[in-house]
Formats: sequence, C-alpha cells, structure tokens
Amino acid sequence: MKKEIVIIGGGLAGSEAAYQILKRGGRARVIEMKPVKYSPAHTLPTFAELVCSNSLKSDSIENASGLLKEEMRLMGSLVIRAAEATRVPAGKTLAVDRTEFSRYITGELERMGAVIERAEAVSIPADRPLIIATGPLTSDAFAGAVSGLIGRERLYFFDAVAPIVYKESIDFEKAFKASRYGKGGDDYINCPFSEDEYERFYSALTAAEGFASHEFDSLNYFEGCMPIEELARRGPKTLLFGPMRPVGLRDPRTQARPFAIVQLRRENQEDTLYNIVGFQTRMTIPEQKRVFRLIPGLEKAEFARFGKLHRNSYIDSPSLLNKSLQLKGDNSIFFAGQMTGVEGYVESAVSGLLAGMNACRLAEGRETVAPPPTTMTGALLAHITAPSKDFQPMNANMGLLPELPGKDRRERQAERALKDMKAWVLAGSLPDGQSSYPVPEV
Ligand SMILES: Cc1cc2nc3c(=O)[nH]c(=O)nc-3n(C[C@H](O)[C@H](O)[C@H](O)COP(=O)(O)OP(=O)(O)OC[C@H]3O[C@@H](n4cnc5c(N)ncnc54)[C@H](O)[C@@H]3O)c2cc1C
Repeated sequence: MKKEIVIIGGGLAGSEAAYQILKRGGRARVIEMKPVKYSPAHTLPTFAELVCSNSLKSDSIENASGLLKEEMRLMGSLVIRAAEATRVPAGKTLAVDRTEFSRYITGELERMGAVIERAEAVSIPADRPLIIATGPLTSDAFAGAVSGLIGRERLYFFDAVAPIVYKESIDFEKAFKASRYGKGGDDYINCPFSEDEYERFYSALTAAEGFASHEFDSLNYFEGCMPIEELARRGPKTLLFGPMRPVGLRDPRTQARPFAIVQLRRENQEDTLYNIVGFQTRMTIPEQKRVFRLIPGLEKAEFARFGKLHRNSYIDSPSLLNKSLQLKGDNSIFFAGQMTGVEGYVESAVSGLLAGMNACRLAEGRETVAPPPTTMTGALLAHITAPSKDFQPMNANMGLLPELPGKDRRERQAERALKDMKAWVLAGSLPDGQSSYPVPEV
C-alpha cells in the first residue's frame, strides 16, 4: 500500500497536487475547511474555487501566462484540462464557468479516490509527506501554526506590491542609472522630474480611480504598505520627502538636482525587470498605465506586473524553500500555491503540480526535481526561491526567462521553453512517463 500524502487546502494548488498524486497511483487526503468554514472571499463548497475573475488569462504562447499553461498541458495538469472542459467564449483568453470548473475538479478528485476531510486544520499534522496549500486567505488559526513552524518573521500577511516594468521599455534618453550619493554603483534607474512635470503627475495621481474596497480587503495601512496615492493625498510635498525625494542625485544631462525623482530597482538577475520603488498602489490597471506613464522616461513603459495591495499570506520562500518546494528544515513538508509567493490562479496551480509530483517522488524514495530554468515553470520557481532581501510575490512573465540575443526574442524564448519542457517531461520527470495530453511537436 502506498504512503498517504496529506494536503491542507483544496484550492487551485491543493487540487492540482492531489491529482498529480492520484494519477501516479498514490493516495491523497485533502483537508479542506469549506463548507465548515469559509474565508471572506470563498463561497462555493467545491474545490479549486476562482475567488475573483473567471479568467485564467491568455492562451497564446508568446504571452507568459499562455506559455505557462502550455507547459502545464505537457505536464498533464488537471486545472488546465478542467478549464478547457468548462471554457466560455473570451477570444484568446482562457475564461471558464467558475461553478462548472470547480465542480469538474471536485468530481475528478472524488472519482479518482481522494480522501476528503472537511475540517479546518489548526495545527501542523504529524503526517509526512505533507503539502501546505491554504492560500492567500489561510485561516488565522492555521497561519499561527505555520508561523510556529517557520518563524513569525517569515510569514507575511499583506501584499503591498509595486508595479514592475520591462527595462527595455524605459526611455534612457530621460532616465539615468545612479545610486543616491553615489553609494551602491548603478543599481537604480532614476526618472527625473521638473517642477511642472511633478505637478502634472501629482494631480493625475491624486485624482486617479482606485479598486473598490472589498470587505475582506479592508486594511489599516501601516506606513510601509501605504499606497502611493494615499500618501500623495496627505499633501503635495509628502512624496517629495518620501519615495520621490531627489536628495543625493544629479541628472547627468543638467548636472542639477531634479525637482523630484522616481527610482526603479532591479528585480531579477537577468536585469530585464525593474520595480518602481515605494509605488504600491490600489489604482485600477488602466489608471496605473495612464498615471505611471506620466513619469519622465516611463512614457512607453510596459508592465510585467501591476501594483496592488491586499491581504495575502505568503512565506519567505527564498530563505525557506528549495526549488522542489520542500521546506529546507524538513524536506518532507512542501508548500504550494500563493503561500509560496507565486501570484495568480495558474501560477498557484503549477506550483501545486510540482509539489504533488515531488511529494510522490519523495514517498517513493526518489529524488525530487525542478523543471529547467529556461521553462516558465522552472523560471518562476527559481525566482521565488532565489536569494532576495525584499521578497514580493511574482506572477509569470517573460522577464523571468534567461535572455536570448537577436530578433523575435519572445517567440524564441517560448519555443525554447516548450522544447526544454517536452524534453524534461519525456526524460521521465513524470514517473508515468507521459502526460495525459498528447505531447505536441515543438
Ligand atoms: C480576493 C482575491 C482575489 C484574487 N483574484 C485573482 C484573480 O482574479 N486572478 C488571479 O489569477 N488570481 C487572483 N488571486 C490570487 C490567487 O491566484 C488566488 O487566490 C488562488 O486561488 C490561489 O490559489 P491557492 O491554491 O494558493 O489558494 P486557494 O485557491 O485560496 O485555496 C486555498 C484553500 O485552502 C482552504 N483553507 C484555508 N485555510 C484552511 C485551513 N486552516 N484548513 C483547511 N483548509 C483551509 C481554503 O478554504 C481554500 O479552499 C486573488 C486572491 C485573492 C485573495
């Protein structure tokens, strides 16, 4: 009899993990608190509930999310199969009927013999292997248990995320590289403002439309998480003494100190992504595009991730997890889903896929694995587990992939990712040697 693998949380990650275990002939027990207890955002009693949008984003492989989904097809994902079976028309976007999607996944897990326990986990069970996938709205009692396991300072409760832009979309005729007071080399990109430019930006920022506040999302902002537009509303000078202070910087073109500065900090080793420092925001996505493109040098900025602020339980994966999603201090405990610092439905599901696959391998006494870093899955896992001083959640984006010189870069990065994923799958990384989908020729 194969060892039972316990999964806490039957969301996107936990459901995919359970399926991966079952399809390898393993035994899976899922502890899910619904319908005994619901988070403020969940309403359905079934598994893998999409709590907000019904979209799993683009299905085109030149797009990071589309590429990730194609890789998941190669790895035989239940979430992607369910999405295709319950798809609603939405052009190139993979949108689903959320009730049918959730029902499909629940039905499939039941049919395959998952043991389902409807209860709130309030402590870390002694069972091993164990997968923790309780998501961004992990219940308070269990969050307490997780912080006891990993250390209080390594569990975060809020996601105060600043936008990330592609470096190639920054205008270096205006922006320049320098660190304040010349300390720290050329690590920052600086966007200098004249007084007029600042006034225009300030008016747009303070008038911008924000996300409607969800009741589960009402926060008492603490200073470090203050949205930039809220800070700006305190008065026109607040930003000039805060994130937009120009001290210690001179514009190399004028040799003068700019009236205000926006700084961007490098986000990845490939040097393709830059974070707008201190610009966490609740503005809507169209407003973020409109307002942030008023920053000199960012007029044509392309965003790899938009800013946001909401409740989100996630752990300091860079210090806690290896690339196979195992806890460094106890490698029979896996984390999966949004808790690991991936961001998004599909990203959460793919981390569940890997955690399920690896928990199975561990139970069979085999080595755990991670996909090549040239794949979107591998690059995402490498990113969330790479050393980082200021770890923030990350969604799939093309800037995570190692660079390729020359023309049609994105297309060739996508081709390379699928070729490498196919080779990895066929090399037996999936113990059943094949996916549940025919592997397309790349
Ligand atoms: C309000 C909100 C809106 C979001 N909107 C989007 C969006 O539109 N698009 C997008 O791509 N991403 C969105 N996300 C981000 C994220 O992708 C989803 O939250 C995703 O569902 C995360 O998957 P998961 O498996 O990690 O967690 P979940 O899907 O939330 O699954 C976790 C499961 O664990 C259960 N659980 C929690 N605590 C316990 C416990 N103690 N014991 C037993 N069970 C427990 C929960 O009931 C839940 O079923 C949103 C997140 C939030 C919070």
